Amino acid sequence: CPHKQTVRRTTMHRSNSKVTHRQSVCIYKDGTTIGSRPRPEVCREEDGTSRRTDEPTYMYTSRRTLGCNYGLPLSSPVSTRKEAGGQRISVCVRKRPLTYAENRRGEADVVTAHDGDSVVVHESKEAVDLTQYILQHRFNYDEVFGEESSNVDVYLKTAFPLIQHVLNGGKATCFAYGQTGAGKTHTMLGCPPQRQGLYALAARDIFTQLHSTQDCGNSTVPSHVYVYVSFFEIYCGQLYDLLDCRKRLFAREDGHQVVQIAGLREVKVESVNSLLEVILWGTGERTQGVSGVNPVSSRSHALLQIQLRDSGNRATGKMSFVDLAGSERAADSRDPDRLSRMEGAEINQSLLALKECIRSLDQEQSHTPFRQSKLTQVLKDSFVGDSKTCMIANVSPSHLATKHTLNTLRYADRVKELGGGGGRRR
Ligand code: ADP
Ligand code: MG
Repeated sequence: CPHKQTVRRTTMHRSNSKVTHRQSVCIYKDGTTIGSRPRPEVCREEDGTSRRTDEPTYMYTSRRTLGCNYGLPLSSPVSTRKEAGGQRISVCVRKRPLTYAENRRGEADVVTAHDGDSVVVHESKEAVDLTQYILQHRFNYDEVFGEESSNVDVYLKTAFPLIQHVLNGGKATCFAYGQTGAGKTHTMLGCPPQRQGLYALAARDIFTQLHSTQDCGNSTVPSHVYVYVSFFEIYCGQLYDLLDCRKRLFAREDGHQVVQIAGLREVKVESVNSLLEVILWGTGERTQGVSGVNPVSSRSHALLQIQLRDSGNRATGKMSFVDLAGSERAADSRDPDRLSRMEGAEINQSLLALKECIRSLDQEQSHTPFRQSKLTQVLKDSFVGDSKTCMIANVSPSHLATKHTLNTLRYADRVKELGGGGGRRR
């Protein structure tokens, strides 16, 4: 009955001594709520995995969030906020504002960012009796950035701690994940020179710290460190050098099981501005195409790597930024032609492999399935040793993007939950 006011806790079960606690809430137009459990059936998710729909998944707090706080009410979720540098895997969500065009078309904002670490999606649904209701989906992450957050805000809580790790000789990777148009490139590249993205903000800090003699964390940055930049893309499983007229590149493992990209151009840069010039040059070379969903969609992964080397040309730190291809491409079946379908399959495979590799990094598994895609193969050294990873899942607030927004949030939730040490949930 849509007029009955009920909120039902749907599930509490123990897994590896941690507690998973999820809750589904339906809100009807008159403001009343009722617990709901969809009819059991197997549905296929964006990333190719399947789940039964009678598993309550709509409003939940992942097991890492609740941990041993068994029985805490969902209305006051435990804060999970940690600095990205303090843990090996950090998963954040960034919601962009409605664009001017979306506002003019009257699109509704259905995403609410709460408390800096949770996000709620209000999905409009219709029951079998044609009653309209709103299904709320709540997710918790390490950080959630609302539409008012600037690139600097995002940078300080995502890439900045990783830069400290890199300056201390480590390796780190920052991914921008999400649907085309959700704000990945805005986050990574920004609109230079007025609004800088993570690339430029990271470069600024690297150069500032290299030029100063200050102590950095527990160790001192070596005095003679040089910065090299490479920028390439992966399109349909092939590598193209964005700094060398899209020259085709080949990745191979050497005798020490280190993946080398033969012929990749590395440009030595000495200032933030020269680094930005290099990036803007490379960005102009990126592959774009026409899909059934968006007039211009990004179908390639762009990898920017900032490598630090000492005077003996030994690697002393490496930061990788990955502007991933549009995640909606992984499951889009309305592609106009065979090539687009192939692109979609390739993107699907690489995003699945990425999730698995991040999981194995966090669980410190001896085997990393990095060979499953070109993306994970070239990022092999990001998934081993003391590497750190941050994923920024970008979402659009528009009601028209609800399906993709939920897919993005579920993917990010699995990356985070897989990182919680409790194994697979589904
Ligand atoms: P993607 O790279 O994911 O396809 P873009 O970064 O190109 O998406 O963003 C799509 C549009 O939304 C661009 O016009 C961009 O300027 C705008 N946009 C994205 N994120 C934000 C934000 N946080 N604030 C303001 N505008 C944004
Ligand atoms: Mg983009």
